Amino acid sequence: MRFAILSDIHANLEALEAVLADARAQACTHFVCLGDVVGYNANPSECVKLIQELECPVVKGNHDEQASIVASTEGFNELAEEAIGWTRENLSADDKAWLADLRLTRQVRDFTIVHATLDTPGQWGYVFNDLDAIASFTYQHTALCFFGHTHWPTAFVRDDNVRRIPVGQIVLSAGKKYFINAGSVGQPRDRDWRAAYCIFHTDRQVVEQRRVKYDLQTAQKKIRAAGLPDRLADRLAMGR
Ligand code: ZN
Repeated sequence: MRFAILSDIHANLEALEAVLADARAQACTHFVCLGDVVGYNANPSECVKLIQELECPVVKGNHDEQASIVASTEGFNELAEEAIGWTRENLSADDKAWLADLRLTRQVRDFTIVHATLDTPGQWGYVFNDLDAIASFTYQHTALCFFGHTHWPTAFVRDDNVRRIPVGQIVLSAGKKYFINAGSVGQPRDRDWRAAYCIFHTDRQVVEQRRVKYDLQTAQKKIRAAGLPDRLADRLAMGR
């Protein structure tokens, strides 16, 4: 069985369509979504619909939460805040109700999914280093957990200690725990503009990081045409 692990789509329809096409070409039959379906880019409702059609497990991201409430409660930065206001106006009541209903963590077969961290999933902390990962591992009851939120493909392993390991092809070993960031489909921030996602090969116990080119120009044009901040279009090309 092959799972496509999708995170931080952020209303980038072109990136999402390219990733879904790649995942299907790679014989993925199962999907999970780690949250932040909306926010930043120009097609929130279309991305919600595509994810709903997958009928897959989805957890809530901070942008999903903020987009589905009346006014922001969190100190978003200016750019994110401007985009979230636009996103609220461009989602239907049904879209918002669906986003509001998402859970913070879920177990899918024998692995866990979460948007930010397992120790305090509703506080939207970022896992960038070993210390952040240690806190999350304490609450991880499955050998494998996928997370998102930082928009950086990263992986941590816990055996005698906790350390970062390279992404690419991770072969899972029995007795160890893995906390793996799938990267971002719709707004990568690791200086690579291509959409990022992971494939979990359950039979071989391998997690494969993939990058997919998509129609960046169309995504950028839509952002500018929507009246969203220009910087949101610019950053997509820079992968940051
Ligand atoms: Zn995000």
